[in-house]
Amino acid sequence: MKKRISILGSTGSIGTQALEVIERLSDKFEIISLSAGGNTDLLNEQIAKFHPKSVCISDSAKINDITGCNKVLAGTEGLEEICSNKENDIILVAVSGKIGLKPTITAIKNGINIALANKETLVMAGDIVMKLAKENGVDIIPVDSEHCAIHQCIKDISQVDKLIITASGGPFLNKTVDDMKAATVEQALAHPRWNMGRKITVDSATLMNKGLEIIEAHHLFNMPYDKIDVVVHPQSIVHSAIEYVDGSVIAQIGLPSMHIPIQYAICYPERFEGIKSKSFSFSEIARLDFQAPDFEKFPFLNLAYHAGRTGGTATVALNGADEEAVFAFLDGKIKLYDIYEITEKIYSSHKPILNPSIDEIFETDKEIREKTRELTNRSVQCLSI
Ligand code: NDP
Ligand code: MG
Repeated sequence: MKKRISILGSTGSIGTQALEVIERLSDKFEIISLSAGGNTDLLNEQIAKFHPKSVCISDSAKINDITGCNKVLAGTEGLEEICSNKENDIILVAVSGKIGLKPTITAIKNGINIALANKETLVMAGDIVMKLAKENGVDIIPVDSEHCAIHQCIKDISQVDKLIITASGGPFLNKTVDDMKAATVEQALAHPRWNMGRKITVDSATLMNKGLEIIEAHHLFNMPYDKIDVVVHPQSIVHSAIEYVDGSVIAQIGLPSMHIPIQYAICYPERFEGIKSKSFSFSEIARLDFQAPDFEKFPFLNLAYHAGRTGGTATVALNGADEEAVFAFLDGKIKLYDIYEITEKIYSSHKPILNPSIDEIFETDKEIREKTRELTNRSVQCLSI
């Protein structure tokens, strides 16, 4: 029987690569629904090719531009409707940002398994989401390559002593802080290894992405922060590793391609021959380099550990402030390093609520974003002096 799947964010970097995997494995999958933010042209192409039963366009003003699908949904309600449809065996959550959280919760409550790319879901509400998944018997399979690697390495979590998350180091690994301070948007978006959406690419340049991944790993694998390490590995061949209590280290390695973790997550627990550009060769790779991260040059790492250990809405504040500051950077309103300075300022002024409800999470998120927007507008004068 074919696995019935929906993709939230089918027009993005993860979404389009997932459709490439599904096209290759067309005898294994049936697409139920697809969704886009506002890219109607690409969504229409996907409708013509994959014939989903329904689609959602989040920008409801564009609903009449969708062609070829009998059921067109819109807005956040549309995403909720997709995630309430029990026809789905699995939903790939590949939207970017906070928009992923509510639909993921809805899908979990409906007993639908989740392939999770959207790390913000766990950063904002990891305790609630993981608890709900357990209560509803739902699998959350990580798509993020590091977490997907760890998922593949773990047999028995109770025997694991440490998670080791690898980081490519991004475009500024071998640059100075002054280079980073002078960086253009184009330079920040020029990631040496991965071709991803703009928000995560900027986060990879500041290493905030790794910070978010530490928090994501804590929730996915129920691992204390003291037992989550980061190591810089520029080649992105070792996707992450775990150390067992007896000292054995198991790593998952492979060529850097998001097709592999996406396929793993949506096919889990099965494996099939998929999109493989070439076979892995140790002798072609020849060498693998590792180094400790520079916490001074990339202060987001410490901030993420701090927010994670604090818990509650601390991670909501960190995530919301960073996301708004990244948008301001992409809009040319602030400099790259201002992302950290602004986020740190907003974060440290936030008084965290411990064990927040989902409403308190969204209220905090809204408040933090408003404050950050205010500061990023002011920062046009203040920070670019
Ligand atoms: P992209 O920006 O490439 O794609 C985002 C997707 O979400 C698009 O389909 C976009 O639609 C849709 N979208 C954006 N805003 C909204 C909105 N307000 N409402 C509904 N849909 C919206 O992002 P990525 O694919 O790179 O990343 C997606 C998620 O996966 C992120 O959380 C990221 O952190 C995570 N991730 C990504 C990796 C990667 O390699 N790209 C690796 C690991 C994790 P439209 O195209 O119409 O704008
Ligand atoms: Mg990652």
